Amino acid sequence: MKDSKGIVTEIQRWSLNDGDGIRTTVFLKGCPLRCAWCHNPETHAMNPELTYKRDACVSCGKCVEVCPQNALRLSDKGVLVERRFCDACGVCVEGCKNKALSITGRIMTTEEVMDIIEKDSVFYRVSGGGVTFSGGEPTIQREFMESLLDDCQAMGIDTAIETAMHFRWEDVEPILGKVDMIFADIKHMDSPQHEKWTGVGNEAILENLKRASALGKEIVVRIPLVEGINDTDKNIRDTVDFINDNLSVKGVELLPYHNLARDKYESLNKSFAEGLRRPSKERMEEIKKAFSMSGIKTVSFA
Ligand code: SF4
Ligand code: SF4
Repeated sequence: MKDSKGIVTEIQRWSLNDGDGIRTTVFLKGCPLRCAWCHNPETHAMNPELTYKRDACVSCGKCVEVCPQNALRLSDKGVLVERRFCDACGVCVEGCKNKALSITGRIMTTEEVMDIIEKDSVFYRVSGGGVTFSGGEPTIQREFMESLLDDCQAMGIDTAIETAMHFRWEDVEPILGKVDMIFADIKHMDSPQHEKWTGVGNEAILENLKRASALGKEIVVRIPLVEGINDTDKNIRDTVDFINDNLSVKGVELLPYHNLARDKYESLNKSFAEGLRRPSKERMEEIKKAFSMSGIKTVSFA
């Protein structure tokens, strides 16, 4: 397929958490969901964004001086970014000697991404690894994804995708048809609750999961677990029933909530959801048991 362009937040080489073997994980920018527990807020918007680390800033004011858009102001809380004026040109990043500023999100061509992927192709082969496309929601950048998958296929590189499954099936079926493995989220079985915590209902997601299963791909269902939100007996029972009644999966991966993304939210001036908690160890064991007693294996790539 012809060279395409997309926006990437990060390419992580030597990743061991995103599938089998040694992998390169490509994080694409842009997501239609806003999960309260998301630990990748830098992938929400589809445009490059300025990030600011207060801890690294000495309030010298150099960035304010050089910004061509007058988007920055010094205050007693450090540098304030007027995001509606900032076009992420990066001039202030160059101007800051303390590395307090950076741009997240880089426009890259398929060729540029493949150059990085190819560097580790020998390790994919010996370890049974490959490439995982993550986000954000990687299926948003359809043309870019298809182009990358075509090139990976041509080189015999194993591919996986991490997706929230919230899309129009007709748009994304060609992408899912090209990947070797699908990591698909089930965040909540109750649609109003799903909408409350992620911004969208779950109808399309559950329907797309059934269709993806019918493609015969290897599927791992990922469940981010947050205490009192989706770790209840009822939600776990409903999830187990849905999987057993509708899907053929390799297993489920249980991902307890963590709050390590707080700094990322602050660096983007985004509000961090306070008060979310991970389920206790005992509760995690109970949930694991509920799946295994129902014939569903729990898997881990941590
Ligand atoms: S990225 Fe450019 S527009 Fe945005 S604050 Fe920095 S210098 Fe100004
Ligand atoms: S140039 Fe860097 S250290 Fe100086 S005020 Fe701006 S962000 Fe802070």
